[in-house]
Amino acid sequence: MFDPNYKFTCVDRFLKYVKYDTQSNEDSTTFPSDPKQLELSKALVVELKGIGLKDAEMDEYGYVMATLPSNTSKNVPTIGFIAHVDTSPAVTGTNVNPVIHKNYQGGDIVLPKDPTKIIDAASNPELKEMIGLDIITTDGTTLLGADDKAGVAEIMDAMNYLINHPEVKHGTIRICFTPDEEVGRGTEKFDVKKYGAKYAYTIDGSTRGEVETETFSADAVVIKFNGKNVHPGYAKNKMINAVKIASRFLEMLPKNSLSPETTDEREGYVHPTSIKSDETLAAIKFIIRDFDASKLKEYENFLKELAEKTVLQFPGSTMEFEVIEQYRNMKYILDQHSMVEENAIEALNRLGIKPINSAIRGGTDGSRLSYMGLPTPNLFAGGHNFHAFTEYVAIQDMEAVVKMIATLANVWEEKA
Ligand SMILES: [Zn+2]
Repeated sequence: MFDPNYKFTCVDRFLKYVKYDTQSNEDSTTFPSDPKQLELSKALVVELKGIGLKDAEMDEYGYVMATLPSNTSKNVPTIGFIAHVDTSPAVTGTNVNPVIHKNYQGGDIVLPKDPTKIIDAASNPELKEMIGLDIITTDGTTLLGADDKAGVAEIMDAMNYLINHPEVKHGTIRICFTPDEEVGRGTEKFDVKKYGAKYAYTIDGSTRGEVETETFSADAVVIKFNGKNVHPGYAKNKMINAVKIASRFLEMLPKNSLSPETTDEREGYVHPTSIKSDETLAAIKFIIRDFDASKLKEYENFLKELAEKTVLQFPGSTMEFEVIEQYRNMKYILDQHSMVEENAIEALNRLGIKPINSAIRGGTDGSRLSYMGLPTPNLFAGGHNFHAFTEYVAIQDMEAVVKMIATLANVWEEKA
């Protein structure tokens, strides 16, 4: 049972972490994408050592790793907890000023420094479940960074709890705080072997109870149309304009299906994300998504046939078609290690939290890690409205995550 008298530290830690601007940069080719992330990572190493995780260290890329040693004679698999320190490039993370709304009583929350920014009850139905809770928002001028500094603070507090409660038995626990998750590069330099965990959990989900074990499977496709450019003054019967080939092709895509704007739940899509063109060459980039990896091939064949059909309408033009594999649904891996999910659900049940099993219409660091040999579902961290001025998190939800992590560590020990 979780000590009812425990004095949580996650909120104080969180309020400190959000003061570090750790916005990652999509256009950067360095690693980490912006070195300012390292300032928080360095501070986390000091903090981890301070609570007793003596081997805490940051590597040359900015990954922080640390060990909480086992306190049991049982042979328990090493499990990991992972969160990311960076925040989204979408909204500024400079000078974050958190505001605590104590004992929320329903209705809209107007953000004090910019009254046009409102967390309105109508479009935030989860607020209905949060009456009486203490909610942290921004002042309206930045994002909050609960994604994923809430996760960082919760993991830190759970380690603090376990160190101060040696009667709670657990195996070896490994911590990792990564840079650059928001720009899709959080696992790029992740040393799975050095990390040494058999299974892990990212603490990067949203609503209380969320256990995410499914992500999209994802490919990228690049289609190139080759036209023929001649001086427009003398182009009659000679020019083949690639701009027009590309437009014709895009116009033939389905209008009411197979796109992000016409699908939800378990439906997949083909989605053109950019087009670069002159008369000679048009290059169109697509992302292809579905929960079922075999469907990707189907979508790709569909696009290829459509492109072939298009060039037939422009005699003399040609096309090139390239598929780039991105990531796969982590469910294929997690199904082979069912106790990873089962133990998480067991921990939630013990705490009286209703598990919500949801599928992510996107990828997570966990989906990549699962295919790098580290099965890693995603658990809730409590934040809402990620990547927006209206981001918020309830203090009591953060504390629930601390309890979940500590309980989950104990469940693994009991089941070993
Ligand atoms: Zn996140």
